[in-house]
Amino acid sequence: MKITFLGTGAGESYPGLWCNCPHCAYARRHRGRNIRANSCAVIDDTLMLDMGPMAFDAAARFGVDLTQVTTLLVTHNHEDHLYPMHLHWREVKEEHVGKPYVASLSLGGPRFTPLPELQIYGNAHVRSTLAPFLEEQPSPHMTFHLIEEGVPFSSSGYRVTPIRGNHHEKGFAHSYVIEKDGQTLLYALDTGTYDPDMQSLLLHFHFDIVIMEGTTGLNEQYYGHMCLENNRKFKQWLEDHGAFTPGHPFYLTHMSPHWCPPHDLYAEMVAPYGITLAYDGLTATL
Ligand SMILES: [Zn+2]
Ligand SMILES: [Zn+2]
Repeated sequence: MKITFLGTGAGESYPGLWCNCPHCAYARRHRGRNIRANSCAVIDDTLMLDMGPMAFDAAARFGVDLTQVTTLLVTHNHEDHLYPMHLHWREVKEEHVGKPYVASLSLGGPRFTPLPELQIYGNAHVRSTLAPFLEEQPSPHMTFHLIEEGVPFSSSGYRVTPIRGNHHEKGFAHSYVIEKDGQTLLYALDTGTYDPDMQSLLLHFHFDIVIMEGTTGLNEQYYGHMCLENNRKFKQWLEDHGAFTPGHPFYLTHMSPHWCPPHDLYAEMVAPYGITLAYDGLTATL
């Protein structure tokens, strides 16, 4: 598996859109890895994890082609994770597909290349957000599938198991366990500490890589997201139960500027725990 982080920020991005606090000001001044778009990742350029408003800008910047994505796993319908307007641009005038581009140009249209069918997976909240876009005609070549907690499914050659997260109301956000070629990834956002039934489900796996949200960083008072202390505890808990091997990659993503210091400073604060801060454009290969 090749995992590319297209974004590693939370809802307000990094720097925060309307903020000039010391962290946001630092990020604007130093840029580089301190700048974070809304969290989004893509595996093998085939399976996409969330599709926020900045996903396609980031992909273009990092040389990633999202036109061949055949699976989209949506964690939840908060706007930084799901921006359905992007799906609208999959529409096509069927008579344009395969025609010489210049000949079709005078007719105009949202796209000119054939696309593979996109399989979209998400919970009931995601389904209601997407409903108007799924009904659009002509066919945007996509199919929605409702996920069930703990029930695995196969898509694009990956085996995927949805895990209920703790974010907003119950059943609002889901994490995903993704398996392929003997490798197992946990993609965990947005969520606070998992409920006991989901904890026992997680212990059925051995993770080669964990990507977890670290939204609230140094603020330990907020539930429904992870702070660094809970990231550390979760990692230790996986290790204690043989579900994760110390030294394997454990990445943090979805970081808010108001609780997580800028990358330049925060990366070395999390390193002693065996945790790596992801950054936009980072590629991890298993
Ligand atoms: Zn979020
Ligand atoms: Zn959220």
